[in-house]
Amino acid sequence: MKRALITGITGQDGLYLAELLLSKGYRVFGLIRGQNNPKYELVERTVPAVTLLTGDLTDLSSLIRAFAVAQPDEVYNLGAISFVAYSWDNAHLTTDVTGKGVLNILEAARLYAGDNIESIRFYQASSSEMYGKVQQVPQSESTLLWPRSPYGVAKVFGHYMTINYRESYGMHASSGILFNHESPRRGPEFVTRKVSQAVARISLGLQDEIVMGNLDSKRDWGFAGDYVEAMWLMLQQDEADDYVVSTGETHSIHELLDVAFNEVGINEWRDLVKQDPRFLRPAEVDLLIGDSAKAKNRLGWTPKVGFHELISMMVKNDVAEQKALANL
Ligand code: NAP
Repeated sequence: MKRALITGITGQDGLYLAELLLSKGYRVFGLIRGQNNPKYELVERTVPAVTLLTGDLTDLSSLIRAFAVAQPDEVYNLGAISFVAYSWDNAHLTTDVTGKGVLNILEAARLYAGDNIESIRFYQASSSEMYGKVQQVPQSESTLLWPRSPYGVAKVFGHYMTINYRESYGMHASSGILFNHESPRRGPEFVTRKVSQAVARISLGLQDEIVMGNLDSKRDWGFAGDYVEAMWLMLQQDEADDYVVSTGETHSIHELLDVAFNEVGINEWRDLVKQDPRFLRPAEVDLLIGDSAKAKNRLGWTPKVGFHELISMMVKNDVAEQKALANL
């Protein structure tokens, strides 16, 4: 039975990845932070077979202890301060967790493996936000990185540190440059979930309008359930490497609103959407679209869920959830 340690187990990807690994017969350990994490129960309910270990990416000793208990064959580093907008106001914290946290866990892995460095396989959750002010469209593994937020800068640090551990120590350390991926489990602070929740509430008469930032920015959105498969596939390869994981399609926030409102039968939504400069980013990332040909050719990975299906899935889920919450 293979053993896996997942950081960020309480997050969207952590839950999907835990389900995938459990379905493949892994013994799964999840790192959870804080003395009374409000998501503890959610993880226990969703993936009861996961063993939870307390620890924090900023605390190397807690990671060393987690490795000693979990004795992992595979480590998936999904933990991060992951909300780009938050990272401008909390740049030091984002650097410590999303950037230096990667160094901490790589170091914990190296110390744990000792002379047996090939005994461990490591996945780093890199991000399309590293492309920022995009230097090439579509973006591939060789596109110059030009991050445009403290989050993006921290991810670049983690990305290169992962490559450095691969090249310096021969560690099987891979980095997945994942483009935006969403699901009904996405945090409500992220734009797709903000829209699906608001559209559900508007359709039920629980909310009047939705306040948005830039409707023209475009993203390459896929389904989180598909993307965790790519993470796993990377660690099954003979050689570690870096891979772009994306759909290769780009859609604007405007299109997102269109599909979401259409799902609840509202075709004319312009009066229901207000724009507020408070929701604009200090530096915008305009055209993110990924070229995942390498993942397709080497890993045999392709996305299964398309944009319309994804947004429809999220809106349907939020309609049911909001109905239950409001006792409708
Ligand atoms: P998420 O839902 O925001 O989850 C982030 C996770 O990190 C949570 O479990 C959080 O725990 C944990 N975390 C935060 N601070 C920590 C710390 N100091 N020590 C240990 N864990 C900590 O993110 P996600 O969408 O699942 O994404 C997973 C990873 O992929 C992240 O690294 C993200 O940056 C990256 N990524 C995501 C996307 C995307 O579109 N989803 C795209 C590219 C890359 P708490 O619950 O305790 O806060």
